[in-house]
Amino acid sequence: MIDVTRPELDDAITRAWQASPEGSAAAVYTPDIERVLRGLRANRFEAHYCADAAEARAYLNGKIDGKKVGIGDSETLRKLELHEALAAHNQVHNVLRSPINKGMSFFEYAKGTLLTDVFLCSVNALTEDGILVNMDGTGNRVAAALFGHEKVYYVAGVNKICPDLDHAIWRLRNIAAPRNCLRKHKATPCAKRGDRCYNCASPERICNGLLIEFKKMSNMEMEVVLVGECLGL
Ligand code: SF4
Repeated sequence: MIDVTRPELDDAITRAWQASPEGSAAAVYTPDIERVLRGLRANRFEAHYCADAAEARAYLNGKIDGKKVGIGDSETLRKLELHEALAAHNQVHNVLRSPINKGMSFFEYAKGTLLTDVFLCSVNALTEDGILVNMDGTGNRVAAALFGHEKVYYVAGVNKICPDLDHAIWRLRNIAAPRNCLRKHKATPCAKRGDRCYNCASPERICNGLLIEFKKMSNMEMEVVLVGECLGL
């Protein structure tokens, strides 16, 4: 049983993670990309490697055409500027873009992404043996990733790769979540101190639901686009 509240996973990798502004443990940990791709395929995900963000944007822009597309909240996808590329030849629903301007509530707009042909988001962490891990506060991102589309694309930089599930859960609680709380100006202890998870009881807590995808969901295509640079939190 993994203790998701544990603040310490005291090894060289986790110390390098905390010291790195990109949330990467690259100083002491070089992930085996071929092993990650093999692991993802063994878990029935399609897997494609792109050298950088520009190549990933061109790849996805070539694959997705004439579709109703949902985009989840993701710093990685924002860095790729995917909305701009896809909106030219698809109908894009993007929770990153202000729903207020469109006269819709967040709830209405996020609900719209549940029913698109294609859904894109990132992961908080993935393991070398191809397991995907995501934490969500409102649930719209993980709900949309699980069911209801022709295809889901996960886009992840190499900084999200972890040696195993234990490190992956540690990373999302102690690197990804505090940095996302800081980005969103949440009233949580991790955002104030920016160092680790305090397993808070804040009403603004973003760690409410943990999704671990051991294998691809049935009856839906799912592809992981792994990008050879540090992207996202
Ligand atoms: S929001 Fe709360 S539970 Fe989540 S990382 Fe921050 S302190 Fe931990």
